[in-house]
Amino acid sequence: MKNYVLFLLLLLTTLTFGQTPSAKRISQHIRYLASDKMQGRGTGSPENAKAAHYVEKQFKKYGLTPLGTDRFYQPFTAKVRRIVVPDSLRKAANVIGFLNNDAAYTIVIGAHYDHLGLGRQGSSLDSLPQGKIHNGADDNASGVAGLLEMARYFSQNNVKEPYNFLFMAFGAEELGLQGSRYFLNNPTLPLERMNFMVCMDMIGRYNPERGVGIGGYGTSDAWPTVFKEVTSSIKFFTDRAGNGGSDNAAFYAKQIPVLFFHTGGHPDYHKPGDDPDKIDAQSEEAILQLEIRLLENAMRLAKMTFTSVK
Ligand SMILES: [Zn+2]
Repeated sequence: MKNYVLFLLLLLTTLTFGQTPSAKRISQHIRYLASDKMQGRGTGSPENAKAAHYVEKQFKKYGLTPLGTDRFYQPFTAKVRRIVVPDSLRKAANVIGFLNNDAAYTIVIGAHYDHLGLGRQGSSLDSLPQGKIHNGADDNASGVAGLLEMARYFSQNNVKEPYNFLFMAFGAEELGLQGSRYFLNNPTLPLERMNFMVCMDMIGRYNPERGVGIGGYGTSDAWPTVFKEVTSSIKFFTDRAGNGGSDNAAFYAKQIPVLFFHTGGHPDYHKPGDDPDKIDAQSEEAILQLEIRLLENAMRLAKMTFTSVK
């Protein structure tokens, strides 16, 4: 009998806490996506496609429903604008998985998986970028790891939430939000069914003096209620603006409330030195736990109304 009670307790603990984000898994995802073997995940490269496939594999493992146009994929053509050589077109794709909770509205969680490749697609800040691998561990393997941990948590926690979830890994963000814009112009879920969008871009370099920034606070009157009395083991601050930084800007432009998580700039930003060994996975774990707390608060409320930020 005693063993039985112990077993039940253990089972309950596993079901409740076993799926929460873990620094170990976060590191594994980042070490894979930002390894030299992945050649910086430049749009159009085989390694970029490999990164997309990695996300797809996890989405399948979590039992998500494919919601691209080609199973989990939503292929599109990305345009590289270059100053010296003619414009070129490259194959790109968003990776989209749906968690159906039979709810009327859906929460979108997204992060871009592309980066600067070998420094030949522009926007590198290195003085001689060509041919150097831009690993993009913080930008944005860290956000993809966050996306995968969120997908894992909400699909494996044995709770049927009052909202559905759309998990999206965007392509071609570094070429100007091309993946998220393509999705919003060709949505595989009606935009009016979306409650709000949460974006993670660069959440792996937590700086205890700055804290993690959470943008988009001004994009709905509901956010202050969501944040009320929320505490965390890490420092965080809110910012009203929702139209900058990353793919959240494309959703903001379509009048969808957003939140944008970001641990701030650093000297390795858009340089070859943005490497996995500089990631603080422990703090990223805490950031994701904070994000879950905020999402759970938001799910106690009715669908949000968008407000534009002056
Ligand atoms: Zn980024």
